[in-house]
Amino acid sequence: MEHHTSYLQKHASITRSRINNFINDGQWRDVNLKSVIEYLRVSGEPHVSLEVWSAPGQDRPAFEHAVKQKYRPAHIGETFGPSWTTHWFRVMVNIPREFVGRRVRFEIDTGSEAMIWSADGEPIMGLTGGGGRERHVDYLLTERASEHEEPRQLYVEMACNDLFGNGDYHQRPQDRSIYYRLNSADLVSHNEPVLALYYDLQVINDMANRITEESPRSWQALAAANAIVNVFEHTDLSTVEPAREIARQFFKAQGGDSNHQVYAIGNCHIDTAWLWPYAETKRKAARSWSTQLQLMDVYPEYKFAASQGQQLEWLKENYPSLFSKIQDKAKTGQFIPIGATWVECDCNMPSGESLVRQFLLGQHFFKEHFGEISDVFWLPDTFGYASQLPQIVRLAGAKYFFTQKLSWNSMNRFPNTTFRWVGLDGSHVLTHMAPSNTYVGQCTPGELMDSVKRHKDLSYTNESLYLFGNGDGGGGPLRDMLERMRRMENLDGLPRVKQAHPREFYEHVEQTTKDLVSWKGELYFELHRGTYTSQANNKLWNRQSEFVLRDVELLSTIAHSKDWQNFTYPADELTRLWKLVCLNQFHDVIPGSSINMVYRDSDKIYEDVFASAKNLRRCALDIIYGELPPLANATPEDTGFVVLNTTSWMRTSIVAVPAQLESMYMRQTDVDSSLVQVCKGNGVVLTIAANVPGYGAQVVTPSAHHNTRAQFVPVRVSASETHGSYVMENRHVRVVIDSNGRITSYYDHAEKRELVAAGAAGNVLELYDDVPDYWDAWDIEVYSLEKYRALEGGDVTISEEGPLVASLQLRMRLSESSTLTQKISLSAISTRLDFETNVDWHENRKCLKASFTWDIVSDVATYETQFGVVQRPTHRNTSWDIAKFEVCAHKFTDLSEFGYGVALLNDCKYGHATLENKMSLSLLRAPKAPDEHCDMGQHRFRYAVYPHVGSFNESNVVQEAYQFNVPLQVLPVNPSALLEGHELPLGQPCFSISGARNVVLDTVKLAEDKSGYIVRLYEAYGGHARALLTTKLPAASVHKVNILEKRMCEDANNSELCWLSHSKTVEVVFKPFEIVTLKFISN
Ligand SMILES: [Zn+2]
Repeated sequence: MEHHTSYLQKHASITRSRINNFINDGQWRDVNLKSVIEYLRVSGEPHVSLEVWSAPGQDRPAFEHAVKQKYRPAHIGETFGPSWTTHWFRVMVNIPREFVGRRVRFEIDTGSEAMIWSADGEPIMGLTGGGGRERHVDYLLTERASEHEEPRQLYVEMACNDLFGNGDYHQRPQDRSIYYRLNSADLVSHNEPVLALYYDLQVINDMANRITEESPRSWQALAAANAIVNVFEHTDLSTVEPAREIARQFFKAQGGDSNHQVYAIGNCHIDTAWLWPYAETKRKAARSWSTQLQLMDVYPEYKFAASQGQQLEWLKENYPSLFSKIQDKAKTGQFIPIGATWVECDCNMPSGESLVRQFLLGQHFFKEHFGEISDVFWLPDTFGYASQLPQIVRLAGAKYFFTQKLSWNSMNRFPNTTFRWVGLDGSHVLTHMAPSNTYVGQCTPGELMDSVKRHKDLSYTNESLYLFGNGDGGGGPLRDMLERMRRMENLDGLPRVKQAHPREFYEHVEQTTKDLVSWKGELYFELHRGTYTSQANNKLWNRQSEFVLRDVELLSTIAHSKDWQNFTYPADELTRLWKLVCLNQFHDVIPGSSINMVYRDSDKIYEDVFASAKNLRRCALDIIYGELPPLANATPEDTGFVVLNTTSWMRTSIVAVPAQLESMYMRQTDVDSSLVQVCKGNGVVLTIAANVPGYGAQVVTPSAHHNTRAQFVPVRVSASETHGSYVMENRHVRVVIDSNGRITSYYDHAEKRELVAAGAAGNVLELYDDVPDYWDAWDIEVYSLEKYRALEGGDVTISEEGPLVASLQLRMRLSESSTLTQKISLSAISTRLDFETNVDWHENRKCLKASFTWDIVSDVATYETQFGVVQRPTHRNTSWDIAKFEVCAHKFTDLSEFGYGVALLNDCKYGHATLENKMSLSLLRAPKAPDEHCDMGQHRFRYAVYPHVGSFNESNVVQEAYQFNVPLQVLPVNPSALLEGHELPLGQPCFSISGARNVVLDTVKLAEDKSGYIVRLYEAYGGHARALLTTKLPAASVHKVNILEKRMCEDANNSELCWLSHSKTVEVVFKPFEIVTLKFISN
């Protein structure tokens, strides 16, 4: 072709269009580069023959089952469905002579996700049909077809869902009636040099478009691309080589020494459940990872990271051959297990112990199956990061943290990329937030340039991590990404990029960077604040699971040490249950952002957990209290019962007398009934259990009350002289409630102090408009605070009149369709006011809150977090303060000033706010997507107000909130044997702590290696402590371990612990918010 001068500098944008038209589909496809990208494509008989068998219902049968079924002929254009069904194709491919000597691919597009299987049952590769950017439909049959190709049989397992479930992504409920079309099943061979030129041009073109015009490199890219178009002739493929030569010349120019270094790692973020159920995730992992194994063989430089022990364990169980291939690729360093946790969990709502178990389960799995634990805590997509994580990460043997989610912040741009994240206790982890702001990178020059442009710490570090590969629903990197990656390795105009283990990046930063800045405290995520509240029952059951497993582990440890010959600690079953609880803490499940199907699954999982835990608890109690006669044998003379306290401090509480003892108990106490109450509502008999020791038990008998009776002041309730209001009063406080259930006065007798702010009230039920900007189940938006009404029209009656408990019953219609009933109770023995609430909830985009406005002045409120508390502002000075208009807290929040405070306790709620002196608790939401039924129906939950003398640090709010969640347990055993001088099991506490009221003993369990038992404690208020812990269980020695239960200090003389073996007491020194795990060796 003749050479003509190009004037492209005069018409750059026209030239850019020209190049786009040259490499893309569209109206010029018959004359552009795409027109000759394929050499030959054949379909139909005799090249490809198809038969199909449709699995019944929503079954996902195994290969062995599927291949034995009766198949019928299938044809292109046929549709399969509905959503969530599975269809197996038996495919016979026959490579024709025209392909001899060529690379041949089998392409099958089912419009959905699918898996190719070999005839002998090996899962080979995952497929994603349809026309999206995630499209992946081709499987390499042979590098070079021979003269005598035999017909080959394959199977294709078609799943009727796409990468993002079924239907309209996440803005609407899922469509259960989608049918997917079998679009094509072809044999195809490409013109490989044309394909290569196509990848060349993708890179050069994006550089021309993305580099600013001030850079000579942008003009060079544009000129090179333009020259290629000029040279190329679609009717003459001998022009491809000269065109590629132009590209090679362009690629020759390398970057300078000061170039930014990108460490790239392939990944496919697989949400463990989201717009699909767990059962589909098992197949997604197999599809995605088998595809990656294929790519690893073709691209030896390719490295791919996969997180989540749970997904790997599923693979091991369901696809053992694939799992062992992954283990092989892990040995060569191409497949990188990463993340350290069981699932990529939510970090707002799981308890401290749950987070510990996420790491314990995750790291053990990695160690067992891949030979080493992960040193990178990997959470690209989780909705905020709690302030105790740096300490927990360190205690789990990891030291690096990766995310990018804060790039989604809706108000404030997070100011760091590579920094030291400092936790509550001062522990720190090297943290990196990928400046490309994505974990689904497509390997484009533009994204690599963003890694530099958006990097906020370039003054002291010139490198970043880059995650590429399709994700959320899995998929992962595609061939074209790896082709582009090869071309961009060291190219003038772009940062350098290499594929590397993320650890290599972190280690390099550690070695070369001296001036890392720090960020102290939580990494609050300025979005998805509705996830503290959506799917309320799921959150309730998570909370209850955490506490029931805590009890089972404690009681099983005691039983094990008491009678190890007759009792086997249920270690395997407890591991199984913790895995289930941890699974449901995945970052789309517990936050409430999954489809309805997921919650029906999680309901069943929790049912399983509760049923098994109940059984395990009974087994342990049978050993502990086995020798005591059962309650049924009780005689009128021995009317006591046993009360067990599984918290670590002494407690006095109102308890229900076991039903079998009610009448006898009443007879014995009729001399003075002031310490017994028969509830009007349900006939339950209440009494007081006083001074039950921590981690101990006590017998409650009528005579035990002789001492308390003298000082006892009953609680009273009355209708006030003022119309429509009620007064409840005990020796501590006097509470006035109006007909809407609002607290109009809360008066502390001893302090002579009114707690409710003048003109305001407490327990105001408020209904907010809750229409977020985009993400329905995920978000509560700041403007919802501007639009709400305080609910009225309540009806209050007196339901219990003391002497132990006084209660009011509130009935209120929340709207045309929703109602609330609430039992408001004050006991004789506490300042605490309880709200036991039932709601029948049928709303559309509304949020129900309870608010309390106190006469307390403080710039900060205190919120419980994992193993500690965080303080957040109550004012709205800056946009950073405003962004925290809704925050996460665990069992309590507290608003205190000098000398006095009020805590708000809950048994399953997480969404909180404190604006000036108004505390709010988010009770229920009503989002419609992705689960159209989210939170509709019955709810039962409790919250409480707990006023206390002294500020938070001087209070026992931590303990009170614990007690609110862990009631004393009344055991159905008859302690008559004790009257004959037997010792009550746990009559002496099995553990006792002295010297530090700020230390909480949280967990007791058998050590994973069964050589002793583990005791986990934490400092709860933020101060130093020196605590003496005495154990009554067997203990020959003790040492400090990390949460993987590995010794922290090998030197026995320098163990930081002082062990007094004669009294089995250990002195433990705590720093503020320190988590201490002790391992007691029994012999
Ligand atoms: Zn995710």
